[in-house]
Amino acid sequence: TVCSTPAAVDNVSQYACQRRTTTENHNKMFTDALEVLAESSEFNENEGRCLAFRRAASVLKSLPSAVRSLGATQGLPCLGEHTEAVIEEILQFGRCFKVEEIQCDERYQALKLFTSVFGVGPKTAEKWYRRGLRSFKEILNEPAIQLNKMQRAGFLYYRDISKTVSKAEAQALRCIIEETVHWIMPDAILALTGGFRRGKEYGHDVDFLVTTPELGREEGLLLHVIDRLQDQGILLYCEHQGTTFDATKLPSCNFEAMDHFEKCFLIVRLYEDQVEGGLQRNPGDSRAWRAIRVDLVVPPVDRYATALLGWTGSRQFVRDLRRFARKERRMLFDNHALYDKTKKMFLSTTTEEDIFVHLGLEYVEPWQRNA
Ligand code: ATP
Ligand code: MN
Ligand code: MN
Repeated sequence: TVCSTPAAVDNVSQYACQRRTTTENHNKMFTDALEVLAESSEFNENEGRCLAFRRAASVLKSLPSAVRSLGATQGLPCLGEHTEAVIEEILQFGRCFKVEEIQCDERYQALKLFTSVFGVGPKTAEKWYRRGLRSFKEILNEPAIQLNKMQRAGFLYYRDISKTVSKAEAQALRCIIEETVHWIMPDAILALTGGFRRGKEYGHDVDFLVTTPELGREEGLLLHVIDRLQDQGILLYCEHQGTTFDATKLPSCNFEAMDHFEKCFLIVRLYEDQVEGGLQRNPGDSRAWRAIRVDLVVPPVDRYATALLGWTGSRQFVRDLRRFARKERRMLFDNHALYDKTKKMFLSTTTEEDIFVHLGLEYVEPWQRNA
């Protein structure tokens, strides 16, 4: 049948920050395939291709309904010929052969497995693969391989932390962190960020922002929180990074750069009786607890809004917010600040809304940022 493009699909922006993307993805069949292609490009160090597939997937995620014909993708931004071919193949056969080929590829499988370990990035995974290693067993039995502290924890708690975290588990962790933070400083500010703030039902970790109402009082707070968690006997792993934040620096142009706020990457023990409805478990596992990855980030309060926007994500949403700022507004934006290159000045931001206003963007709610 001949059908015109539905009105809702007209004028989809090339920028994720000008689209509203809920957790409801009507095009999962396509976006899952594109994610495999993106990941494979990443493993092959083809950043351009990787980004192109991620952008295409992000556009499809924002659509109000499933794509049922190639015609329905007419006029959509960011869909290159590769993506179009993938969509066409899936529409026709229900699967994409290129994707299946990648999924069967030995190198892809090994790199995917290795990077699923906390503390193992594509570089390390590649190194292990080149040594001929293919399984965890081979890595752990190879005397020449020196694992760092993070990777050792990654292997030690692999079964637990490779399993998703539920909303109820995130909520339970929030109570624990909140109680600890407020015991130390009753007026400290705590926010759940990351995927759970965007309304996701499941996540790979739980992310929090912590700050204080007065600038400077956040100093020393995080180390104190870590001590308290340690005293409670629930800290299984902790990597603390001190602040390297410099208020005079312009926002970075490199998206992949980590931010400079004080933070810690934790693995925390969560007990069964702390979670409404109980823990998610592996079959045959009768322990009364599970390990969960937690990130705590401490921006100074005058950077709270930019930090909150950055840590709420999604990655693609924030990536495009930064690209939009640079390309469309001559502004630089990162987790630390918003800077106007024309006026040569930093713009002050107290809330996330302020940032959208400065950028001349309609406000997008956290649950609409699942780009
Ligand atoms: P998931 O549910 O899988 O955890 P998520 O969206 O919460 O998904 P995270 O990896 O926890 O993903 O990251 C949350 C947000 O914080 C992302 O937008 C990411 O860009 C940002 N982020 C993560 N790590 C850093 C870092 N070291 N420096 C700056 N920003 C970061
Ligand atoms: Mn997260
Ligand atoms: Mn995280």
